[in-house]
Amino acid sequence: MRITCPNCGSRDSREYFYLGAAKLLDRPENGAAAFHDYVYLRENSAGPNTELWQHEMGCRAWLHVTRDTTSHAVLAVALVSEVSR
Ligand SMILES: [Zn+2]
Repeated sequence: MRITCPNCGSRDSREYFYLGAAKLLDRPENGAAAFHDYVYLRENSAGPNTELWQHEMGCRAWLHVTRDTTSHAVLAVALVSEVSR
């Protein structure tokens, strides 16, 4: 699988670190139950998902990647700093 970093271009996925679903960007401000769900509950849906990847062996930028989990096709890549939440 290849991911196109906005700074470096197309690179093999082994250059990247996968953190998880992009919903991790939406950290709850308060509430133990909401924080429990944030930390422990994960969706495992098939199809297009938004994920967080770091170009660890490149520019080290955090990327917001839209990837189809059924085909591993990368549908969109953007810098996390440029994604509106
Ligand atoms: Zn990069």
